[in-house]
Amino acid sequence: MAGIPESIIDRIRESVNIVDVIGRYVTLKKRGRNYLGLCPFHTEKTPSFNVNPEKQIFHCFGCGTGGNVFTFLMRYENLSFVDAVKRLADETGIKIPVSQEAKKQESENEQLFRANEVAESVYHQQLKQAPAAVQEYLQRRGISAETREQFKLGYASGEWDGLLKYLERNGFSLNPYKKLGLLLESEKSGKLFDRFRNRLMFPIHNQSGKVIGFGGRALLDEPNSPKYMNSPESPVYQKSRILYGLYFSKEAIRESGAVIFVEGYMDFLQLYQAGIRNVVATSGTALTEEHARLIRRYTNRVYLCYDADTAGINAAVRGGEILFQQLLEVEALILPAGEDPDSFVKANGKEAFLALLKEAKDYLAFRLSILNRKYDLQKAAERSRAVAEALEMLLPMQDAIRSGFYLEKIAEQLQVPATTLLNEFQRRQKARRQQNQFREQGREGGDSPGAAPAAAESAAKAPLVFTGAWGGEKDVILLLISYFKDIHDYVFNHLQEDDFLNPEFRELFALIKSRRESGESSGAPNLLHFVLENIPGEAVKTLLLRELEQSNREFHKPALYLQDCIKRIKIARYQAKIDLAKRQMKELAPNDPRQLQFLMEINDANIQVKKWQDVVSSDDG
Ligand SMILES: [Zn+2]
Repeated sequence: MAGIPESIIDRIRESVNIVDVIGRYVTLKKRGRNYLGLCPFHTEKTPSFNVNPEKQIFHCFGCGTGGNVFTFLMRYENLSFVDAVKRLADETGIKIPVSQEAKKQESENEQLFRANEVAESVYHQQLKQAPAAVQEYLQRRGISAETREQFKLGYASGEWDGLLKYLERNGFSLNPYKKLGLLLESEKSGKLFDRFRNRLMFPIHNQSGKVIGFGGRALLDEPNSPKYMNSPESPVYQKSRILYGLYFSKEAIRESGAVIFVEGYMDFLQLYQAGIRNVVATSGTALTEEHARLIRRYTNRVYLCYDADTAGINAAVRGGEILFQQLLEVEALILPAGEDPDSFVKANGKEAFLALLKEAKDYLAFRLSILNRKYDLQKAAERSRAVAEALEMLLPMQDAIRSGFYLEKIAEQLQVPATTLLNEFQRRQKARRQQNQFREQGREGGDSPGAAPAAAESAAKAPLVFTGAWGGEKDVILLLISYFKDIHDYVFNHLQEDDFLNPEFRELFALIKSRRESGESSGAPNLLHFVLENIPGEAVKTLLLRELEQSNREFHKPALYLQDCIKRIKIARYQAKIDLAKRQMKELAPNDPRQLQFLMEINDANIQVKKWQDVVSSDDG
């Protein structure tokens, strides 16, 4: 894991007690073998946040958050895994050896941060000496001197080489500036020149306050020049992970329990200086699931506050859908026509804006009102299109209770009988699952390499099914975590990665296998933490923790139950092989010689299915 040896990670984890660490942030009371408190990651009145000293894990039954001591610090303190490990390493006095590779990457990133910092101060300095027209512009937009200082606003002059000249004069190495895209190279002459010219500059900070890039707003109307231009992505700047202003607003977001998303830098600054500080700007970037995860570290409640133009409404529909599907509570507010948050706050002040915010609609109601405008619900064909759009939106949601609740609302709003809607929803869910499985098996058969990434992506979004074969796969993982020493030989002698149909369990299985082969100590507690620290998806983590914790699942006869799981997995796998071969046969001409090949495959697989069906089942689990 990022250059830190597993054995050191284990030592650090073992030398702290999760109850002590979490106890600094959450008041915990002893309940039986566990400790209980109010969850810091969602709002609740009755404690459902559980800390298990025996297993050294925590888990909230309310919101599903869980993990070990590192995961807790990552969530609560907003740290990366490596930083969480380092934090506890400092406390325990355990030294982390630094690999050459990690040192190199770190020093390269440091160089880039420093270069951005230099550019920030050059632009900031230039703003102070900028032409009167620029000063007047800021005045007119109502950006105070204090705001200019706090957010280090800057000015890129109209020269082709303003920044370049400064860097050369002061003997800076130009390489980092090229990497950051601040300097560009002319294709014709090979000469360097500034990317940003004649622009108001907004430095973009990461969550620890370092400058990672810039947004530049054009100050002249030039026909071929975009109004806004951002730094390109670089090793230190990834658009899908950054929300403008979050570094400055995160405390206010946590305190107020909500965040306001606006579109532009100016919207952000205007709200912030008016005293509405729980705000971030998307600055022209489409919202992603990573943004959703990022903001969830601070709050579950999001207000989207966008312009009434088509672009603004589209951004609210699409961005809102992503956040909504990630189970955030989303409220959408479309401003009165012709206004943006910037102009509205400037003209009407803070209180008026907060009053307006109260008119925000929850995302589903907002989306339904848009559907209502988009389609003529009096016409059957259009109504069915509106229904389809609403249902597709719910499909990726991994929360059956919520989707059930939303289905009722949709039925009511679109005037469709609830049972009809539910049937249609289940039909689509099933089709989606089959499509995923089909793609997944196609991948296994190796006949459609192009479909693999899409399959992996949609399989991850699909509601998880945990009966039948997938339930067996999940329980094998649980058994490995709980009884590794006793059963690992048996498991790895009988199961291969290919036996797993669920991509996430397959990945976990491969992970455990590689750890076993690397000879790392695999005592049960270490393996549990290794899995928690390397687990591929949030949904799988929640599921495993719930199962481990809820029933404190002790398998009645683990060895027998393991056989039963393996049986289910094998049967499902051979069944999948048969289905795949049958489908492939259908595509062939009747006299194609490969028909025989497939028939033999089906025959072999059938024999295997029979063989496994004859294995005696246990009634355990
Ligand atoms: Zn919780």
